[in-house]
Amino acid sequence: MDSLRRDGHTVLKDGLHADGWLEKGELVRKPVELDRLAKRQAEQIQTHWPSADLIVGVSQCGAVLAAFVARHLALPVAFVNLQADQMTFHRMNVPEFPQRVVLVDDLISTGTDARLLVAGMRRAGHTVLGLSVWTVRQTAQLPELPLLTLWPHPYHTWSAAACPHCAAGEAVRWEQVRE
Ligand SMILES: [Zn+2]
Repeated sequence: MDSLRRDGHTVLKDGLHADGWLEKGELVRKPVELDRLAKRQAEQIQTHWPSADLIVGVSQCGAVLAAFVARHLALPVAFVNLQADQMTFHRMNVPEFPQRVVLVDDLISTGTDARLLVAGMRRAGHTVLGLSVWTVRQTAQLPELPLLTLWPHPYHTWSAAACPHCAAGEAVRWEQVRE
């Protein structure tokens, strides 16, 4: 995880402040390293949700990761998109029957997309067993469902008004960050 770390006073795209952020591109552009994490996610999914029959990932980076995870589990994968807050399955795999789904992603920062995806999948008649991700920022508002993570999030997050870096007059090092 160390290669992902970007320390310093950070303003996230949603306006929250933090003492750093994670650059997932460090792993996403290195398939061998990405696959090490995918394998760990697959092992957790196998242990906790052995009845899963579909792995789902969000376009674009989430879809790549989900395919890697699904390969370790020998399960099918489906890719989803969010447009105007609505979830749609990519035409390559639109499940015809209700599935027991695990949603796979890399980092969760706000939880907004995860909530929309889970709601969309439930509306489509699927059972969402849980969410498998690398890590979740502590201010994220997660959907109501079981969560598996690989690590605790290494950074603190505050509202702008409560940010100790701002209070100390420290310049912002990273702006408009979307994890
Ligand atoms: Zn600040």
